[in-house]
Amino acid sequence: MRKSTGRVCKLGVMGGTFDPIHYGHLVAAEGAREELALDKVIFIPAGKPPHKPGHDLADAGDRYLMTGLAIDSNIFFEVSSIEIDRPGPSYTVDTIQFIMNQYPGAEIYFITGADAILEIITWKNVERLLSLCYFVAASRPGYRLDELWEKVGAFIQCPEKKILGMEVPALAISSTDIRRRVREGKTIKYLLPEPVEEYIAKKKLYRR
Ligand code: ATP
Ligand code: MG
Repeated sequence: MRKSTGRVCKLGVMGGTFDPIHYGHLVAAEGAREELALDKVIFIPAGKPPHKPGHDLADAGDRYLMTGLAIDSNIFFEVSSIEIDRPGPSYTVDTIQFIMNQYPGAEIYFITGADAILEIITWKNVERLLSLCYFVAASRPGYRLDELWEKVGAFIQCPEKKILGMEVPALAISSTDIRRRVREGKTIKYLLPEPVEEYIAKKKLYRR
């Protein structure tokens, strides 16, 4: 499939562990692309996320390949290995800076779910991050966008200018649930794209 080329002015960046990628991620990215008229969305699987020491992540190569399989049919979507290639923990601010250097002059929209945005605004140096790019908080079952504003407002001033809320079709899908289902031998059909489901089966991922 030929991907979009040419000068990029509005760029979406979708970060995540994508362990594995599922329809919740894809619906949020596509919703942002359409609503904000983004030229493209780059999916960036995290290398070693500083905030997720808890569970053993699947191999970065597997997460990268699954992301590639999931986005292949959308000409506006791309996957990048920048966080995976970088040694040590990945910091979003470094990733955004890297992307800005690759696409000089582009407006960057970092797409997250409503749960992740709450984590992000409590990070150190959030002001610097907000000076570099916009954030898009996609609705996610269990997290209300109106409650989000109250919480965000307690941390930063004028959040509505730099953090945009976006309602997307609610999909109560999470990678945690998908991993658990695989471990328990349950179906994951229709929760994620078929090529990703096939990859998980072929590589016997998440079985323990
Ligand atoms: P895990 O359960 O391992 O945390 P996850 O399903 O939350 O996985 P992540 O890779 O952590 O997926 O999420 C990447 C980004 O996608 C985050 O910003 C997250 O909020 C967002 N996201 C994940 N699932 C959904 C969903 N169902 N709807 C909207 N946004 C989502
Ligand atoms: Mg998550």
